[in-house]
Amino acid sequence: CGIVGYAGNKTACGKPLEVCMQGLKRLEYRGYDSAGVALAAPGMQRVAVRKKSGRLSNLAADIKRIPVPDATVGIGHTRWATNGAPSDINSHPHTSEDGKIAIIHNGIIENAGTLRLDLQAEGYTFLSATDTEVAAKLLGKIANIVIDETGKPDLFEALRRMARMLTGAFTILAVDARQPDIVVGVRHDSPLVVGLGDGENFLGSDVAAFVAYTKEAMEVDQDKAVCISGDSVTVTDFDGNLVNNPKRFTIDWD
Ligand code: GLU
Repeated sequence: CGIVGYAGNKTACGKPLEVCMQGLKRLEYRGYDSAGVALAAPGMQRVAVRKKSGRLSNLAADIKRIPVPDATVGIGHTRWATNGAPSDINSHPHTSEDGKIAIIHNGIIENAGTLRLDLQAEGYTFLSATDTEVAAKLLGKIANIVIDETGKPDLFEALRRMARMLTGAFTILAVDARQPDIVVGVRHDSPLVVGLGDGENFLGSDVAAFVAYTKEAMEVDQDKAVCISGDSVTVTDFDGNLVNNPKRFTIDWD
């Protein structure tokens, strides 16, 4: 339902969590039944994930009770359940089998049932009843195949490959503990926008997600993929072809 993503400079701090919580607060107007965040920083073996059904204040209270580690990147989600009842387990983010990748998703993945059966036949197990967890497990599998020249999985390429396998409507963001400097996203029949900051960049299901931090934004068109770091924004199609000069605009409200 509501999506926010943040990539900052290379020093782990509380800003990724702050931006996610602030963004989700701004997105509350859309309605939701659960909320969650995932954070990554250099040295983490797995992404740090916290999620709770109910109000955003439930999640905030949970994080206050047991604080999350400082981070360099983060993603946040408010869920409007379509596949699987509202519950802590069904809340986003969902993680890959090895816990290194976390994703959030808006929309409905129509072929999740078939993909789930295929993955189960390969030995994958599922914790939740969601279509989103199918995408999380699938992305984990693809990431372990797409190894770049540094020996790390190429998360951007893995997400594009996964997007080509999905039918239905989706905006999906992902973070990976092995690449804690980027947040990647894809969209098909569901919105996604970029917020441009100074040494930091943002993603949102709409500009409300990051309007508290920047008024400079960039469109991500239908069937496009985006990768943000603190100092770069790259947009491609699902085949990896670069989109030159994506349309920029200035947000004229706060
Ligand atoms: N289909 C997903 C779910 O039920 C995402 C719903 C949403 O857009 O919030 O978990």
